[in-house]
Amino acid sequence: AAGALALGLAACAPADDGGGGGATDGGGEGGLVGVAMPTKSSERWIQDGEAVKAQLEEAGFEVDLQYAEDDIPTQVLQIENMITKGAVALIVASIDGTTLTNVLEDAASQDIAVIAYDRLLRDTEAVSYYATFDNFLVGQQQAWSITNGLGLTELDGTPIDGAPAGPFNIELFAGSLDDNNAFFFFNGAMDVLQPLIDDGTLVVKSGQTEIEQVATLRWDGETAQSRMEDILTAQYSGGDRVNAVLSPYDGISRGIISALQGSGYTVGAEWPIISGQDAELDSVKAIVSGEQYATIFKDTRDLASKAVEMTVAVLDGEDPEVNNTEDYDNGVKTVPSYLLEPIIVVADNIPEVLIDSGYWTDAEING
Ligand code: BGC
Repeated sequence: AAGALALGLAACAPADDGGGGGATDGGGEGGLVGVAMPTKSSERWIQDGEAVKAQLEEAGFEVDLQYAEDDIPTQVLQIENMITKGAVALIVASIDGTTLTNVLEDAASQDIAVIAYDRLLRDTEAVSYYATFDNFLVGQQQAWSITNGLGLTELDGTPIDGAPAGPFNIELFAGSLDDNNAFFFFNGAMDVLQPLIDDGTLVVKSGQTEIEQVATLRWDGETAQSRMEDILTAQYSGGDRVNAVLSPYDGISRGIISALQGSGYTVGAEWPIISGQDAELDSVKAIVSGEQYATIFKDTRDLASKAVEMTVAVLDGEDPEVNNTEDYDNGVKTVPSYLLEPIIVVADNIPEVLIDSGYWTDAEING
């Protein structure tokens, strides 16, 4: 009943600027909820954290919001602290989905509700529910942004009559192998791209097509930049050009763009088609300027609402709404999930998708 009570008390929720992390004094009659986020180095997680915190406070909870700067022991410690402070629930976006097993068992033994946020928590019974986006579809959309940019398909993957035959040179990047999402994104993308590689429309000159070969530890942009530089030197210094790069995340796309610029590519007709994810502001600007072709928008405000809704339901002893009970096997159980719909953003629909929804203002993007 904590959640129901909490909702009734929404108006009394204390204002907290989140300055010092854990807030445990006063207000928050719904109890303390720990929110563990991976890093502030990527804008999206800052927005996620702020949205979850604001919505939980509105529902009458105290919030302990922590970022672990992509350091696993730090995240473990932060969650241990949340448990010690008496958290009634944990909302966790993990760095490495497999490293929290012990601390989460600890939480479960004290009946603390655990919601996996965006990234699946693996190898543990202790996770109750999972709020995320349709991650396989994200991957397909990333591939469709490539095929659309090359003139092969519409943005929804529908083939275009009289499309160019290619061949087009493409290089592939994936995310961090310790993040379950990386596999969904890559598998979704290859579901679209593999047939085109098989029929010769797309050529991967580096020959690197396995996720282990193309992964990027911690989704790090500089790591991606140096791999792209190596590929450009090894495969494209004899005059061949790379026409497209599959990138799973805007920060990785920015690294790829730097590598291309460093090796003499300039924006224009011959500039490669590059995908992305998260609609980060700098990357939206890069779409406007033509450096990046597309990104995948996942509205962090909606994801926050889902996670908060799930938390409140579990605390009220109710079953939260889910729409997927099949795809997210974490190694020991299939976690009931709610998958939100991602949206492809290209230059044309930035106003409609990002500005009209209030995600970014026109001034932020074009100012
Ligand atoms: C998220 C993506 C994000 C990536 C890097 C993934 O788990 O789903 O939205 O781009 O992590 O932060």
